[in-house]
Amino acid sequence: MKPAPFKYIAATSLDQALALKAEHGDEAKFLAGGQSLIPAMNFRLARPTILIDINGIEPLCGVRTSEAATRVGPLTRYRALQRDAAFVGLFPLIGEALPHIAHPQIRNRGTIGGNLSHADPASELPAIAVALRARLHVQSAKRARSVAAADFFVSALTTDLGADEMLTGIELPLHGPRTGSCFMEVARRRGDFAIVGLAAQVTLNENQACSDIRLSLCGVGETPVDASTAASIMIGHSPAEEMFRDVAASVQTMIEPSGSVHATADYQRHLAGVLTERALRTAHQRAHNER
Ligand SMILES: Cc1cc2nc3c(=O)[nH]c(=O)nc-3n(C[C@H](O)[C@H](O)[C@H](O)COP(=O)(O)OP(=O)(O)OC[C@H]3O[C@@H](n4cnc5c(N)ncnc54)[C@H](O)[C@@H]3O)c2cc1C
Repeated sequence: MKPAPFKYIAATSLDQALALKAEHGDEAKFLAGGQSLIPAMNFRLARPTILIDINGIEPLCGVRTSEAATRVGPLTRYRALQRDAAFVGLFPLIGEALPHIAHPQIRNRGTIGGNLSHADPASELPAIAVALRARLHVQSAKRARSVAAADFFVSALTTDLGADEMLTGIELPLHGPRTGSCFMEVARRRGDFAIVGLAAQVTLNENQACSDIRLSLCGVGETPVDASTAASIMIGHSPAEEMFRDVAASVQTMIEPSGSVHATADYQRHLAGVLTERALRTAHQRAHNER
């Protein structure tokens, strides 16, 4: 299939891209890696009349780390993140998830900002952004604001972004010592979207009791599912097998998977329980080893 006719503009600055978006609103779409947008246009599921190519806007690329947080530019490609040992060392949860996203060719082009803005419910990074308490920086020609990842994903393929706004930065708070994480997913084939994916991050205090727990799932709802409250029964305790089982049972009751051609809703619910137990066990073990 070929896309419907559109006008292409290669923006050379953030100001120009935002001015164009303010002028054309929903008629215009930013082009980042093109790995979701172009297939959607080819299938005529998306028919923007104007494509604003943001690939030439250098300040939107790269990773900058300060004392409290790391800020990732939206145009940073999956491959660049995978190859950044310092970044993967700071955020092993992302490092563990990246190889699950699509295939090498797609990871060479796809960007973190395009991924989060596209907001596919089965996508790994939105669930991880929620688990890591990311803040998403958003800008229009008129104003800048930031929103918690948990509030950014509104429904399937829909975010909190306004018609004139761009995602301009992903801020990831640094975690404390004795923190371990784990990402796991089940997909039909390597590189497919997740049937169920799960991100867990456990922090222990000096007495090895759980002081913070984050748990988030993809593929089992319209948006990433933040199951951290269900896992909060671990707080103050030295995590043990019965607790992992109890959290898994709570997760199974709180999610509402829709099922698909690849898996029934019951199977997804079963997987969510199994992955919860396994990921919590692994994250806890890793936290324990991180003295
Ligand atoms: C075969 C195949 C398998 C795939 N498997 C997976 C998978 O397993 N997991 C997964 O997560 N993804 C998967 N993807 C999707 C891939 O990860 C895309 O790269 C990603 O969803 C979109 O990123 P992009 O940079 O390519 O964005 P684009 O395709 O360029 O843009 C996507 C959308 O985001 C908007 N956008 C882009 N950047 C911004 C910004 N900075 N601010 C506001 N809006 C913006 C665009 O206007 C567009 O609406 C797969 C894709 C293919 C083709």
